[in-house]
Amino acid sequence: MNILKNGTLVTPQGMIRADLAMKQDKIVKIEADIPAQKSDRVWDITGCVVFPGFIDGHTHLDLNNGVMDTADNFKTGTLGAVCGGTTTVIDFATQDKGDTLLHALDHWKKLAEGSSCNYAFHMAITDWNERTKAELPVMQKEGVTSFKAYFAYDSLMVSDYQLLEILESLKSIDGIIGVHCENGPIINELQKRELARGNTGPEAHPVSRPAEVEAEAISRLCWLGKLADAPVHVVHLSSKLGLEVIRAARKRGQMVYAETCPQYLLFDDGVYSQPDFEGAKFVLSPPLRKMEDVMALRHAVIDGEIDTVSTDHCSFNFETQKKVGLHDFTKIPNGGPGVEHRPTVMLTSFQDSLSYPEFAKLMSENQAKLFHLFPRKGALKVGSDADIAVWDPNCTWTISAANQHQNVDYTPYEGFQASGRMKYVFVNGVLASQDGEPTGEVVGRFEPTRT
Ligand code: MN
Ligand code: MN
Repeated sequence: MNILKNGTLVTPQGMIRADLAMKQDKIVKIEADIPAQKSDRVWDITGCVVFPGFIDGHTHLDLNNGVMDTADNFKTGTLGAVCGGTTTVIDFATQDKGDTLLHALDHWKKLAEGSSCNYAFHMAITDWNERTKAELPVMQKEGVTSFKAYFAYDSLMVSDYQLLEILESLKSIDGIIGVHCENGPIINELQKRELARGNTGPEAHPVSRPAEVEAEAISRLCWLGKLADAPVHVVHLSSKLGLEVIRAARKRGQMVYAETCPQYLLFDDGVYSQPDFEGAKFVLSPPLRKMEDVMALRHAVIDGEIDTVSTDHCSFNFETQKKVGLHDFTKIPNGGPGVEHRPTVMLTSFQDSLSYPEFAKLMSENQAKLFHLFPRKGALKVGSDADIAVWDPNCTWTISAANQHQNVDYTPYEGFQASGRMKYVFVNGVLASQDGEPTGEVVGRFEPTRT
């Protein structure tokens, strides 16, 4: 057995001082004092906090955006993940138009082989028809119960009526669907308008995707959810206007899940006017908003109105990829890195306003529950998987592209002073990283989600 001794455990019952033992890939004992046998390996973690392994419910690894591939594939992205305490990523398998969901799933499973952390999939539906509909029970059987649809991006979007049908159909498998809420057709025209005005730099990005187009799309999703009598999931919420729409839907009794990401809690749109095209590093969608939005979302996180904080990790290199849009902001590949730094950034930024159990909920437990991995994951519990992040709150260090493991030439958190670091991270009971450095163990596996 591996025995973690003298730590403080963050459990569903609250914080407890206890030892934790793992055998193979399971947690087998949680007791005040677990005596070690000769064959056991003991880790003294006095002063450390033990979390259920963090789950990033929103990553794009090995994605082709139609023009280029993301800087990170599964191998590099999950290596970064384990160094920062994330033991499971939920990525997006995307159906090609004319193709089946099953083929898409097989393809993405192959891409994910050799991952350092565990992985599950949301299935992005881009071609809704009778055949796709008939595949929903197949997906359930294969272990995919969360889906994705887009209100933006011409190659990915579904129509409003299609989304209504999807929402209705998912009820039969108890599935959930996350939706990219921005009004794509309006954005297409607003982008042309900015370019025609001669606004070609990154600062035109947020202007072409104002908060209203997010709020409108969230509102549409909520009403379609009401019509279908189905729950809805708003991914990467970025604005106060969008938050108000969610509040209104919840007030009338609807089940609306909300995700936001660290970038919307730390930065405002001032970053887009940095010199030397630096703003391109923050060209992601929805865009960063005003400080008023940042504060509204921070309060929503603290007040429990946000269910999950995941990253939308979608990395492109600044020098060779972001700069393709040097003279046209619409050609800057959208997305930014985050999978390696989310737990550290959140635990540092919210150290005075969130308790450790609240962190565990926002970054592990709620993802596990919403996407049907609980209690196998998302909880320190006897019988649960031995995915564990040991946090040392007494270690200080500085986040930099120079010391990261995800495969991209920048981080939006460059210079961030972290107050704490992942001391040990176990994936399936195997030590995957220590003091923020990988051990070289590659034990990630596909995690089916079961309703
Ligand atoms: Mn999106
Ligand atoms: Mn995304």
